[in-house]
Amino acid sequence: MKAAVVRAFGEPLVMEDRPDPEPGPGQVRVRVEASGLCHTDIHAAHGDWPVKPSPPFVPGHEGVGLVEQLGDGVTHLAVGQRVAVPWLGKACGRCEHCLSGWETLCEQQINTGYGCDGGYAEKMLAWADFAQPVPDGVSAIDAAPLTCAGVTTYRALKVAGVRPAQLVAISGVGGLGHLAVQYAKIAGATVAAIDVTDEKLELATALGADLVIDARKDDVGEVLKRHGGAHAAIALAVNEGAFAAVNSGLRRGGKLVMVALPAHGSIQVPIFDTVLNGTSVIGSIVGTRQDLAEVFQLHAAGHTKVISETRPLASVNESIDEVLRGEVKARIVFDLLGAGR
Ligand code: NAD
Ligand code: ZN
Ligand code: ZN
Repeated sequence: MKAAVVRAFGEPLVMEDRPDPEPGPGQVRVRVEASGLCHTDIHAAHGDWPVKPSPPFVPGHEGVGLVEQLGDGVTHLAVGQRVAVPWLGKACGRCEHCLSGWETLCEQQINTGYGCDGGYAEKMLAWADFAQPVPDGVSAIDAAPLTCAGVTTYRALKVAGVRPAQLVAISGVGGLGHLAVQYAKIAGATVAAIDVTDEKLELATALGADLVIDARKDDVGEVLKRHGGAHAAIALAVNEGAFAAVNSGLRRGGKLVMVALPAHGSIQVPIFDTVLNGTSVIGSIVGTRQDLAEVFQLHAAGHTKVISETRPLASVNESIDEVLRGEVKARIVFDLLGAGR
């Protein structure tokens, strides 16, 4: 089978022929149909973060495909069933976090495409308990971006406790942001979308954003304040300055939810303003299996639209460059079957 492999940080990925992986106990082998390119995969390939993967590895945590072989003890999945293999490849199931609805914080977790090989391949392994069944009527091409971009932003809005009639700022309308705009609308919020290209701002409007802010020329904090300030700001832009900008547009009691992970990122949180204004800064990492099930359910019911462009896996390096240049409308999805939708 073919796989796109990171052999060294910052080097182009290499297409390799590898033997099909054998599922161990509790695992399944998946014939990948579609695999999304999340910006996290670029951070992984560049070794951007303090905790690094170990090359050689296969990135990708938006892999969707058909179960091809069951490992020992797997009884709840069937050969031929479509599943998604998210970032949360496996968690322990026993710790405080796992038992309290926060499996995303499990310290024993293994992350797909980071701690084990991921979805940039024709075949991949998944732990059966964490491979999410994809409902009928949701295509593999749509399911792929939902598997990380969808579940992450859906969870981030839950973390922010967004309620109807609130003002929610979505900073960065990329793969994650284009879905965040839609979940915020579903929650009944008024949505302010922020980005730095005309195309992204137009996309945000088309997806339901009530106002758009062009961070190239507008003062993001000031515009938000003019609208009363944001109850919640979801930081999805891979840019430190964008975190501080949107933080300055919170209203009293507002929440900044940090999701994007720019390399070596940090922001100043002024103590006086934070105390007096009662604002919060919260980190949010992907979402649980239940969150992903809800994301798929919403999509199957026709409530969300996934904007994607399909590419062959062999275009992985050019595709990464396109994302870094900000030229991708929302999400690139590698079409492993070449069959389109
Ligand atoms: P993306 O490249 O598709 O989107 C980023 C968007 O930010 C683009 O639309 C870009 O134009 C916009 N942007 C750039 N500079 C900006 C600025 N100054 N102000 C406003 N917008 C700006 O990336 P993505 O796949 O959506 O991922 C975004 C980030 O989220 C990455 O850092 C990724 O690693 C991280 N991520 C985190 C989690 C999590 O669980 N916390 C999950 C998935 C991805
Ligand atoms: Zn655990
Ligand atoms: Zn991701």
